[in-house]
Amino acid sequence: MQILENYSLRELNTFGFEASARYFAEAHCSADVVEALRFVRALDLSLLVLGEGSNVVLVSDLPGLVLKLANSGIEVVGDAGNSVTIRVGAGQNWHELVRWCLDQGYFGIENLSLIPGSVGAAPVQNIGAYGVELKDVFHSLEAVDRETLEVVTLNGDDCQFAYRDSLFKGEARGRYIICHVNLTLSMLPEVNTRYGAIAVEIERLGLVLTPQSVSAAVCQLRSSKLPDPAEIGNAGSFFKNPVIEDAQRAELQQQFPDLVAYSDVPGYSKLAAGWLIEQCGWKGVREADIGVHAKQALVLVNYGVGQAEDLLALAERIKESVQQRFAVTLEMEPTIYPVSPVYPTP
Ligand code: FAD
Ligand code: NAP
Repeated sequence: MQILENYSLRELNTFGFEASARYFAEAHCSADVVEALRFVRALDLSLLVLGEGSNVVLVSDLPGLVLKLANSGIEVVGDAGNSVTIRVGAGQNWHELVRWCLDQGYFGIENLSLIPGSVGAAPVQNIGAYGVELKDVFHSLEAVDRETLEVVTLNGDDCQFAYRDSLFKGEARGRYIICHVNLTLSMLPEVNTRYGAIAVEIERLGLVLTPQSVSAAVCQLRSSKLPDPAEIGNAGSFFKNPVIEDAQRAELQQQFPDLVAYSDVPGYSKLAAGWLIEQCGWKGVREADIGVHAKQALVLVNYGVGQAEDLLALAERIKESVQQRFAVTLEMEPTIYPVSPVYPTP
């Protein structure tokens, strides 16, 4: 494995922030990952594992090793008649996997169409969209344990999946380097249209309800609202949708009858963070090259040569105004690097 020095990460993060890695390498297999871990141990370096950089904020140069997972490939490892289990390399692009599965007649991830990023990062925040989360199709994953340098297999319970969260963002942050993800997909063409917008869009497109048309509708909806990172730097939703107690939701609804809220686990409700931010007047605000997207207030953007510090300062002001107006605390979704006392582990 080749280890490069002073490597620019500008093309490797979807915000397009300029930051360089003291050392940079690509891992094509778990043996490469172990070699990289030995290297950081020997030199006492920090490590950032990177997929496609679509959920990170790089604030400054990274003093240690940045390891990009680059092993792609999909293989069928189990067939139970009505379902298959596939094993996918961490470096595989997520949306290409969705398309491949639809071509094969393997269903369950069509609602997750067009989510940027790699398969290896998908368990990290239990990616979700339009009523489906990775955990719904997750079988297991294989990862190198940074403490033992052994390859371990973790199942769904081990991964502690929650709303845009998992073991890998929580107590074991940085411990496991995910090399393969195993998913179990249905061969029955059932669809999930719990999010009404999908059925409406399928009808608008004049399509019959199939997993393929769900994917087409999701792609269409996403493209119409979300900035393409190839054109405008962004990391998707900058804040998670806050989950609050039903009692607080009732109080807020008295004050704000248009509040956008959905029932969550019993006793709790999820608020649309984008609506809260829009109500505070932030939608479409632009300050030099940093701003809030005009079509989706949950997405912060870098129009060109914006700085990560300015983006984080704007995020802080947005958080404060939502706190003041609604007494609701927003939590950031992307992870900030390098980890520092100013930007500690979330
Ligand atoms: P990176 O940004 O490279 O890494 C993210 C985190 O995972 C980092 O902490 C990194 O260290 C860690 N990581 C990456 N790979 C590994 C690995 N192999 N092993 C261990 N740790 C690893 N997310 C959603 O959930 N739903 C959406 O609908 C959605 N829409 C988006 C739309 C846009 C336009 C954008 C830009 C982003 C969106 N996201 C969404 C966020 C993002 O796409 C996902 O979080 C995605 O899974 C990140 O993948 P990545 O490979 O880019 O990860
Ligand atoms: P939207 O449809 O305008 O809805 C706003 C919010 O309300 C969503 O965030 C969603 O929460 C929630 N919601 C909508 N319908 C719901 C239902 N029937 N039941 C429960 N909750 C409902 O959202 P959008 O911005 O266009 O995004 C569409 C989907 O793509 C969402 O699922 C969103 O999470 C996902 N997305 C995620 C990112 C990211 O970076 N994380 C970026 C873009 C889009 P949920 O977010 O919990 O689904």
